[in-house]
Amino acid sequence: MTDIETQPASFTRGLFARAIHDDLVFPYPAPLDERSPEEAKVIRRIERDLKEMAAAGLIDAARSDEEETVREETIRALAERGILGLSIPQEYGGLGLSATGYAHVLGLVATLDASLGVLVGVHCGLGSKALVLFGSAEQKARYLPMLARGETLAAYALTEPETGSDAQNIKTTAECESDGSWRLNGRKIWIGNGHRAGVIATFAQTLVERRGEMVRRPTAFIIRPDMPGFRVVGTFRKMGIRGSTQAELEYKDLRVPAEHTLGDVGKGFGVAVQVLNGGRHSLAAACTSATKHLLDEMTRYAEQRVQFGQPIASFEITQRKLAAVAADAYAADAMLGVLGRLADDPTADQSLEAACCKVFASDLIWRAADETVQIAGGRGFVKPYPYERFLRDARINRIFEGTNEILRLFIALNGIAEPAERLAGNGSALKSPLRNVGLLGGFAAERLMQRIRGTASLDAPLDARLAKHKEKLEKHVGELATATEAVITRHRKAIIEKQMILERLANMAIDLFATACTISRTQRIIETGSETEVEKALALCDLFCVTAGRRFRAVRISLDEEADDDRRRAVAAIVRADRGYGVPSAVLPGV
Ligand SMILES: Cc1cc2nc3c(=O)[nH]c(=O)nc-3n(C[C@H](O)[C@H](O)[C@H](O)COP(=O)(O)OP(=O)(O)OC[C@H]3O[C@@H](n4cnc5c(N)ncnc54)[C@H](O)[C@@H]3O)c2cc1C
Repeated sequence: MTDIETQPASFTRGLFARAIHDDLVFPYPAPLDERSPEEAKVIRRIERDLKEMAAAGLIDAARSDEEETVREETIRALAERGILGLSIPQEYGGLGLSATGYAHVLGLVATLDASLGVLVGVHCGLGSKALVLFGSAEQKARYLPMLARGETLAAYALTEPETGSDAQNIKTTAECESDGSWRLNGRKIWIGNGHRAGVIATFAQTLVERRGEMVRRPTAFIIRPDMPGFRVVGTFRKMGIRGSTQAELEYKDLRVPAEHTLGDVGKGFGVAVQVLNGGRHSLAAACTSATKHLLDEMTRYAEQRVQFGQPIASFEITQRKLAAVAADAYAADAMLGVLGRLADDPTADQSLEAACCKVFASDLIWRAADETVQIAGGRGFVKPYPYERFLRDARINRIFEGTNEILRLFIALNGIAEPAERLAGNGSALKSPLRNVGLLGGFAAERLMQRIRGTASLDAPLDARLAKHKEKLEKHVGELATATEAVITRHRKAIIEKQMILERLANMAIDLFATACTISRTQRIIETGSETEVEKALALCDLFCVTAGRRFRAVRISLDEEADDDRRRAVAAIVRADRGYGVPSAVLPGV
């Protein structure tokens, strides 16, 4: 077998090519208590610790929001309980949690305080994780124990003033000196923990030889704030997650010793992407866990607020809102279980599924926070009620760790690669545009030739009550594949520029992945749950699958209405030419 044939399959990528990889989603993973009782015990202990910290006032979301910082005593308390070593292997003094376990704990932290979730997520899931995944034995021995003990925080510094989504083209440079050390010049912005981190994973362009030519490619480095040439320029005030701190960093002839490269020279983009894959998983877990908490808050408020002589929960419009958030939270949870198994399997590919979960869960928490504010009415908008903070805190999730637009492009471009190659033999023509999709393109291109396996049917044994959802799923997978082939045939290489189409294909794939995970989880509950649990699961599964199915159909139909996209392009052209809204006022033209 060639390397291509031995590459791991992806459930989401398969969907675009009429392939349902049952084995990646079914059977649904058992809870951690069964799979890894020791780890489950540690997580339950952390859950108790976090609750105690909250009860003792050490975790206080309203206070960190007001003070725009997380207090040192809180960071110390987390460190004492091992919570800053969640993702660090036990041999280096960490708790060595699995990806599933880590994501779950981050969800608990972020639910208590979104700002604290960002602080812990950047430290454990990005900064420390870069070392865990790519550090040399010497680097790990030197830095991981102090990070696990929480003696210092870690940061992950990729974004720059000029390059955010287009992270492959960062401007920071690293020149190699005659003694093998590096000289870094550039700026990084919005770097979480950047003002107090003692260990920072960062990225700079280095000269490397590719096919006989010298080109610039990113390399990852470990830097420390005491290295000459490092400066914290300042910190930022923000809409939400105000307790977390983001800094601007300046590297001015920053001297970095030779042994501080992380991974291979010129391979920094792969480091950035792989770390972010894990980050997206835990971010999705944080959004999902916090959404469940929002549903609790919405329900509590709706039951106690009486208008027209009745609790507002008794009104149907309120019920529609509660039901929608509950069904979507059930689906998001189901997706996380599947993603966790992929993330904990070193032979599996989780990149597309992590992107699907991040997009789905971050969109969901925004809708849920918005509905929470709406249900709370005026109290939703004013302090000291927590609802306006929930909304502010929720917003960032659609922006960082890959914006949802970029992630949708990533999903769609990966999905169409194999059908495009098969249909038009133009796979190689697609390669270079894929490389240009910012942070994710290079990674996508490496996987372009991946062999699609799987069948067009969902063959896992299912309860009869799930049969209708299985049939719809199979039908819709076929429709996604047909739609993919149609748009490739219609647009050929230009499909890469047709973002309105790509966005729709991604939305269809995300809903199909979510539906498959939801069916799988429900099947497991049917097999193992009590009668009441099964009844609840079936109700949530029904609502989600039917709603997602209708959404899928609407998007599929809109794919045939390309004239609508022409209209959008025409209006966008007018807006751009007018530099905004160019129609005179209907009341006072000229003013
Ligand atoms: C609070 C906060 C914390 C952060 N923490 C960190 C951190 O710890 N470390 C770090 O390195 N970075 C961090 N970031 C940076 C964050 O990851 C970036 O903001 C994000 O990647 C987007 O980059 P940008 O802001 O430059 O937006 P841009 O890339 O300028 O994008 C602006 C808009 O254009 C859209 N867009 C861009 N390109 C395309 C395209 N090709 N097609 C269609 N639409 C496109 C985007 O989706 C977005 O809606 C943080 C940011 C914030 C605000």
